[in-house]
Amino acid sequence: MNKYEALKHYFGYTSFRGGQEALIDSVLSGRDVLGIMPTGGGKSICYQIPALLFNGITIVVSPLISLMKDQVMALGQAGVAAAFLNSSLTPDQIGRVYRNLYQGAYKILYIAPERLDSDEFVQLMQQLPISLLAVDEAHCISQWGNDFRPQYLHIADFVETLPSRPTVAAFTATATEQVQRDIMEKLRLRSPFCLVTGFDRPNLNLEVLFPKNKQQALADILHKHPNKSGIIYCSTRNNVERICQWLVEKGFSATRYHAGLDDAERRQNQEDFIYDRKPIMVATNAFGMGIDKSNVNFVVHYNMPMSLEAYYQEAGRAGRDGEPADCILLYSGSDIQTAKTLIEYSKPREELSEEEFLQLRRLDYERLARMIDYCKTTDCLRKTVLSYFGQPHGDHCENCGNCRTVFLKKDITREAQMILSCVKRIHDHLGYSLGASTVALVLKGSNDQRILSLGLDRLSTYGLMKERTRNEIHDLINHLEKQEYLFTDPLHRGILLCDSARQILFEGKTVTMEYKEIPKKESRRQKRQRIEDTVSDKGLYERLRLLRSELANQQRVPAYVIFSNATLADMAVKQPMTVWDLMDVSGVGRIKAEQYGELFLREIRRYVNGN
Ligand code: ADP
Repeated sequence: MNKYEALKHYFGYTSFRGGQEALIDSVLSGRDVLGIMPTGGGKSICYQIPALLFNGITIVVSPLISLMKDQVMALGQAGVAAAFLNSSLTPDQIGRVYRNLYQGAYKILYIAPERLDSDEFVQLMQQLPISLLAVDEAHCISQWGNDFRPQYLHIADFVETLPSRPTVAAFTATATEQVQRDIMEKLRLRSPFCLVTGFDRPNLNLEVLFPKNKQQALADILHKHPNKSGIIYCSTRNNVERICQWLVEKGFSATRYHAGLDDAERRQNQEDFIYDRKPIMVATNAFGMGIDKSNVNFVVHYNMPMSLEAYYQEAGRAGRDGEPADCILLYSGSDIQTAKTLIEYSKPREELSEEEFLQLRRLDYERLARMIDYCKTTDCLRKTVLSYFGQPHGDHCENCGNCRTVFLKKDITREAQMILSCVKRIHDHLGYSLGASTVALVLKGSNDQRILSLGLDRLSTYGLMKERTRNEIHDLINHLEKQEYLFTDPLHRGILLCDSARQILFEGKTVTMEYKEIPKKESRRQKRQRIEDTVSDKGLYERLRLLRSELANQQRVPAYVIFSNATLADMAVKQPMTVWDLMDVSGVGRIKAEQYGELFLREIRRYVNGN
């Protein structure tokens, strides 16, 4: 069997996607690889096809249990003998996997990195023919990345204990150039073939909203996505609890996931989500790495994440099936404070020196600053993400919130003068400075007790901007800080004038700020067709979906593991009558055709004859 035959036989596809073939060729020739592909780009096939063509066993190191279970289930459906080893198995189950391995029963073995610390495992591996070691989520090896897992550092040593060195193939979706270099070095890859395929996910609509009421904004989003599956990320466990409960009370079918729940509940909730019993998942960032659910239609960030790496990875869990999907971030200024607190309270890790720890913290702050820039930019959001990862990009994607918005430049010199002189007067009056929120209260003319007791109501700038909302004043202050007319004193958190403020106050310099206006035009996404819209015969498509969900229920597997929506749509269009015709449908491989072919063909025939 060659690689094309394997692609069709096991996975039902007739052509490779961008980058897959080059990576597979390199692995097949015995050369190490580093593949950087976006989520949903098809990384798994890059090691699964070589695994099927090599004589020996392929080990896949992967950080999360859920991924392994999903992948092994999907491989089983495709007729590939695979297993996994991780802490969810009982000693008996582990013993069984070991015995089967010894007898050569598996082509592919998924392991959690902790397994490499087990002498029993290492000794067994030394006796088996290991052809390939694939490292999934390879960025976890870098402490400069956003998801460092110290056990990943043991991979290279493990490879060296094997009597014959397997080819090593590393894959990740998110890695800045520094992290890419770190992966190559720490995995000790030998002159690897590196391939970075487009990071861009054109089917994702990126958007940042600045809602006054986040809960309301969330409810609006959910109403716009009826019967769809989506993830809502929150930055704290408390928020997860609160939002999930609120959604359930409002009648949404939601479940929750965070590290504070016990294992059994986490597993149950995750399954409810994967099997679409509860299509909405409210979670902290503990949820999702390795979640293979392809029909996630939207990802909402209820709070701003800590870095663009984290954001793009989490948002990227939407639309893996290639369908148009929404990635919406609900921003508010208080998210910045929460993020800073999370950085400040992060514990030093044992394996790091004091100096390394402080350097990491500095990097955390830098990443946070870039994340805030993303939220506030008026530039194309896709361009902002792609340029962060050093990827090629156009100027306007026409499929993000900013490209659909007209920004108006307004002269804010008068407002700037009011704010700057208020800051100055507060300082002159008190001898120290106050934070942005209090300055906004003074300008608004608030009767807040603190303002009155400090005598700030006697300042000439008190109430100067009473017709503006506090949020508007806050935004103006933020803008002046970004333009470096104001700065926050890091010790006391009060705002102070920069020298450049003189230019506005005394030298006639003008300042402008961009404002959002009403949406400009229909997005490309809205014009993009959903796969079901391409099927003219909806009746058949719906019947095939029904059959799929019956089968999924019977077999206790998620529906998309049987066939994807795209495959059912292609079936509804092609209306195959024989198994051979069925094999022409994209996503139908030999094993699935044998296992399910007759059932689907019967449904198609019944439908065609009935019409
Ligand atoms: P990743 O691990 O990169 O996030 P996956 O390996 O899970 O992505 O692949 C995402 C989806 O794309 C899967 O449903 C997979 O079956 C599909 N896919 C992968 N390669 C191809 C291909 N060559 N043609 C069509 N679909 C593909």
